[in-house]
Amino acid sequence: MDANKNKPQPIVTKGGVTIVPEGPPGYEGQGFFATSAEKVIGMARLNSLWPLPFATSCCGIEFMSLMSSHYDLGRFGMERLSFSPRQSDLLMVMGTIAKKMAPVLREVYMQMAEPKWVLSMGACASSGGVFDSYSVLQGIDRVIPVDVYIPGCPPRPEQVINGILKIQELARNESLRRRYSKEYEDLLTKYKID
Ligand code: SF4
Repeated sequence: MDANKNKPQPIVTKGGVTIVPEGPPGYEGQGFFATSAEKVIGMARLNSLWPLPFATSCCGIEFMSLMSSHYDLGRFGMERLSFSPRQSDLLMVMGTIAKKMAPVLREVYMQMAEPKWVLSMGACASSGGVFDSYSVLQGIDRVIPVDVYIPGCPPRPEQVINGILKIQELARNESLRRRYSKEYEDLLTKYKID
């Protein structure tokens, strides 16, 4: 008997790229599959991230390239960009953030529902980049917590894809209790976020 008969068949896109999310590890047999809710929820979260692009300058242009057909972020099944913080769970900050804009960025972050992740794309968002001046925020982690930093000025689309894969890894492995933990509460308190 063919052992692969009951396995889900891969979805093949036009370009011949196979994109099938890996199922969580579990116990399987004829007619049943058992795993933990945490693993299934992790898998659902990682494959349904909705990014909010907070793009202010040239890194935003690089992001447009990432979204277009050549790099095609839609291959991950999460191309649905959300410009409403309440309907997104991945904040992608790209570009130079002026100090005057910091409260706006913070407000956007606070309006996002938990669980949420933050990706800092490029030198400017991560550290102020070459703009070591009185008006530029020297890294968004001064006002909001960041999960993944992507270096570069601007980063290559492949680097951004790698950053998104890292976020997916975090989403997959995050414990359901983390957002209620003291450690997480302390992190938010450090940023004076309720
Ligand atoms: S890191 Fe470079 S490319 Fe990105 S916003 Fe700053 S100056 Fe522009």
